[in-house]
Amino acid sequence: MTQSQKTHQQIYQVAVPLPVRHDGILVYDYLAGSFTGLVRGTIISVPLGQRHVWGIIMAETGTPDIAPDKLKSVSAVADCPPLHEAHLQFLTEVASWTCAPFGMVMKMMLSTPKAFEPPPLETIYGRNDDDGDDHHGKLTEKRARILNFVKDAPALAAADLARETGTSVGIVKKMAESGLLRAYQVPKISIMPQPNPDIATLTLTESQRQVADGISAYLETGFSAHLLDGVTGSGKTEVYFDLVAKQIAKRQQTLILLPEIALTAAWQLRFEARFGVKPLIWHSSVSETQRRQLWRACLSGEALVVVGARSALFLPFSQLGLMIVDEEHEAAFKQEDMVIYHARDMAVMRARAQNIPIILATATPSLESWVNAGKGSQDSDLPALPKRYHHWQLAARIGTAKLPDITMIDLKKDRPAAGRWLSDALQKAISQNLADGGQTLLYLNRRGYAPLAICEACGTKAKCHSCDSWLVTHRLSGSRQCHHCGYRQPLSDCCADCGTKGQMRAYGPGVERLAEEVGTLFADARYCIFSSDTAARPEVAAEMIRAITDGEVDIIIGTQMAAKGHHFPNLTLVGIIDADLGLQGGDLRAAERTYQMLSQASGRAGRAGTSGRALLQSYEPDNAVFTALASGDRDSFLALEMQMRHAATMPPFGRLAAIIISSQNQQQLEQFAQTLFKARPQFSQVDVFGPVAAPIARIRGRYRMRFLVRTGRQVALQKIIKDWVAQCRVPSQIHLQIDIDPYSFM
Ligand code: ADP
Ligand code: ZN
Repeated sequence: MTQSQKTHQQIYQVAVPLPVRHDGILVYDYLAGSFTGLVRGTIISVPLGQRHVWGIIMAETGTPDIAPDKLKSVSAVADCPPLHEAHLQFLTEVASWTCAPFGMVMKMMLSTPKAFEPPPLETIYGRNDDDGDDHHGKLTEKRARILNFVKDAPALAAADLARETGTSVGIVKKMAESGLLRAYQVPKISIMPQPNPDIATLTLTESQRQVADGISAYLETGFSAHLLDGVTGSGKTEVYFDLVAKQIAKRQQTLILLPEIALTAAWQLRFEARFGVKPLIWHSSVSETQRRQLWRACLSGEALVVVGARSALFLPFSQLGLMIVDEEHEAAFKQEDMVIYHARDMAVMRARAQNIPIILATATPSLESWVNAGKGSQDSDLPALPKRYHHWQLAARIGTAKLPDITMIDLKKDRPAAGRWLSDALQKAISQNLADGGQTLLYLNRRGYAPLAICEACGTKAKCHSCDSWLVTHRLSGSRQCHHCGYRQPLSDCCADCGTKGQMRAYGPGVERLAEEVGTLFADARYCIFSSDTAARPEVAAEMIRAITDGEVDIIIGTQMAAKGHHFPNLTLVGIIDADLGLQGGDLRAAERTYQMLSQASGRAGRAGTSGRALLQSYEPDNAVFTALASGDRDSFLALEMQMRHAATMPPFGRLAAIIISSQNQQQLEQFAQTLFKARPQFSQVDVFGPVAAPIARIRGRYRMRFLVRTGRQVALQKIIKDWVAQCRVPSQIHLQIDIDPYSFM
């Protein structure tokens, strides 16, 4: 191509997937080459260094950054429609909110490059018009049947044609070879199962109907946010299914975000019963083919209801009409690596960008959502914060099911023997429950056998070699594991430090150790361990849930995996082994999370008619968290939490961000921390804490330090952080992460 040809070409500004922080959106200029007339939002492939990457056309420009003859050309255009303005707006807002490079946020939407290729071709077989009729007499009966069928039917794939005619694929192909049929190559079309809105499996109760109709009034009025607040088992799912049905009838798309998609087998069955098809599911372990098809079907509008983990938020829906975030309080919605974001908050952002309603469902609202629903400050002296969400309440469980009675067990008075974890009171309750034929859940959020192993000879603790953490003993898998980096070593009774044999002692309980105690105390009971180790794969988890539901298990010993969302009709007793566990550590949300977790776990009891109870073992049974739980007074608990957050100018009364820097080189890290410290923002209403070594000071061989920034509510936190970081050149070995509104304080 000559120089003048180049200078007269169109030039596009293309957003590229580079992890470079930039003021605004980082775009590079590319010549249109043979791809002229492309519009903003088009996904294209461009050369970048030695590779080709997928990017998005953001604009056309007449004034490129460098001379046109130095520019490279677009190398390919995705075989799909351009992204919409609302998609681009959403990506821009996420980047700006999270302080992440636009290119990295964009990458989450372009996560499925296979979807940009034209669909694979398939061969279909139909009538051959060039073929005369004269040979019919010589045909076998099967061949005649096929010819008769294709006379006035559309061409079909060999397998379909064979099935329709009761013949075989081999016959179809042979007939094509000999010219009796004609073979065509066409793009393979994947047909999305279409949900049926009209299969009413049950009738909503009066109060469910009121809420469903109430929210339904907002389905066509642009952006609105709704907190669907109902005790566990009150039928929140049925209420939002009712709204999903309305959207399906209008052929509008709905996105439902669930925190832990692998655990939702029961939910999926309910969906299938309600809508007649399996839900379309999006998460990281869905097969490449399915991802490709689903991504395209989101953009074409054909995928009407998609259920996904947080990454589904970045699917390119073209007709999105409603979003639902179930269990909105769940910490699992926070993504902690690459782009650090909270899927619930970004979902609200997307709903606003798309101008559609969003529903946040929960039995234990996060403080943030509670405040956004205008709650908590009415009867207090706290400053009123803007009300952003509508609040809808379902106060009662369905039918005769009641919320469980919650009782505290004071471990100071009823202390189990050394190496034992079940108090007398809890043991008695389990025996009684077994005698009555009820199921028991023993909840302990600790995987493995024991969290700590110490050599009695030299006092050394088994430690991870690349993290600042202890190794957890796992007897079932015969290993010691680091829960931070995944390192594992074979379980040995030999001290790694002094070499003494037979002196390694396990300290503290994990679910495996608890199971040992259960096995000893209740020899006839059938028990299972339900954790991410024993139910790692979705199908194993599903089978375990089935076995429990069908009454094949008496005692479930489970981590948080067992405590969430399940509906086990015969579960009548929940024992919380260590209610204090979540309260340790300097986490802003420790109390709130403990409350949510324990009320979820307790909420498993008595879900179907039979009354349930929950016993909580604690060394500080008078803690406000437990008093509120036991009296069922969630709202007072939230009010108290708000007082504490207000006193500390913590969110939502102030704003918080963390900056985490890490490097394998500790000295260099400390130097850079000082550089950052010197450049720290010094304004009123802005406090910078740190640098300090992170509570887990080394993970995967990288040393970690943190800053925490706290500002007033009205302060432009993101701008302050971006300006600050922009002043300091980050050495290439140092990794810098910005976490707006941090949930993890590790
Ligand atoms: P939540 O999501 O609030 O925990 P679910 O929607 O899971 O509650 O409902 C709890 C149980 O009650 C489910 O088994 C559900 O099928 C049943 N259920 C909900 N609404 C009704 C209703 N209107 N009539 C009969 N059963 C219902
Ligand atoms: Zn480790």
